[in-house]
Amino acid sequence: MGGGWWRRACHHGPVIPFLLAGLAVLLAWVAPGLMARRKAFRRAPRAALVAWQAVSVGGILAALAAGPAAIPLLLDGDAPTRHLRLVVPAVLVSAVVLGRLLHAGHHVGTRLRRVRADHRQLVDIVARHEERVRILQHPTPTAYCIPGRQSRVVLSQGVLDALPGEQLEAVIAHENAHLRGRHDLLLEFFAVVTQAVPAPLRSSEALDEVRLLVEALADRAAVRRTGEVATARALLTLAGSRAPDAALGVGATAPVRLRLLADGPPGPVLPLIAYSYAALAATLPLVLLGLAWA
Ligand SMILES: [Zn+2]
Repeated sequence: MGGGWWRRACHHGPVIPFLLAGLAVLLAWVAPGLMARRKAFRRAPRAALVAWQAVSVGGILAALAAGPAAIPLLLDGDAPTRHLRLVVPAVLVSAVVLGRLLHAGHHVGTRLRRVRADHRQLVDIVARHEERVRILQHPTPTAYCIPGRQSRVVLSQGVLDALPGEQLEAVIAHENAHLRGRHDLLLEFFAVVTQAVPAPLRSSEALDEVRLLVEALADRAAVRRTGEVATARALLTLAGSRAPDAALGVGATAPVRLRLLADGPPGPVLPLIAYSYAALAATLPLVLLGLAWA
């Protein structure tokens, strides 16, 4: 019924490249603001992180597909060249987005790895090496991890003095969850995507929210190991601590995370909504691209 109309629109009109460009703006610019306000999803951090990744990947795919989706207009039998005014900008948009992503990826990745390597070297020189952790001779309670292939969990003497055994276990379980889950790669991905977006359109909301979700996820691991009470107490003690640049620490987000610990895990509905949303956001650009070439 509607198939004839759709086919005509796809083959003789610029519908799909425009839809993809609109979808790219929607996913890269509009969706993050709306998602950051849906705070209920923080209770399902794993599902929420999948949704954030899917929206970012979907936005990138939509922008990258706008050019390729316009190409079939040139294969149009009657007057291929009359579409050039659309095809050229669409291809340019995709090329610019790809270029910005590659540039940001190189820039962010190089900087992170250099800062971490320097920091790891310093820790290896000044910190006492114990079985699973490195201890810094410093009275301020601080805990963080240095991710990467030669990862380290770093604690200050202040943490050892301030926290009883079970809470110390919670802190180490939290940091190990970051290292095991490679949360650094997740944060690096979002740092690259954020930097690839032109400055006027850029928002820090996605990166801030993803940082919080990663902390909430690591807190869950600590709860599984030592229970809510020990985790919450350790979090309170470390609440004021600041981790060095490019390391993953316990600090700043403590009040929100304490509330999340008190709320506990959600029922099945929130994760289900988040996963469905993620599937839609990541596949829609590919479906549109497929239709353009169908
Ligand atoms: Zn953490």
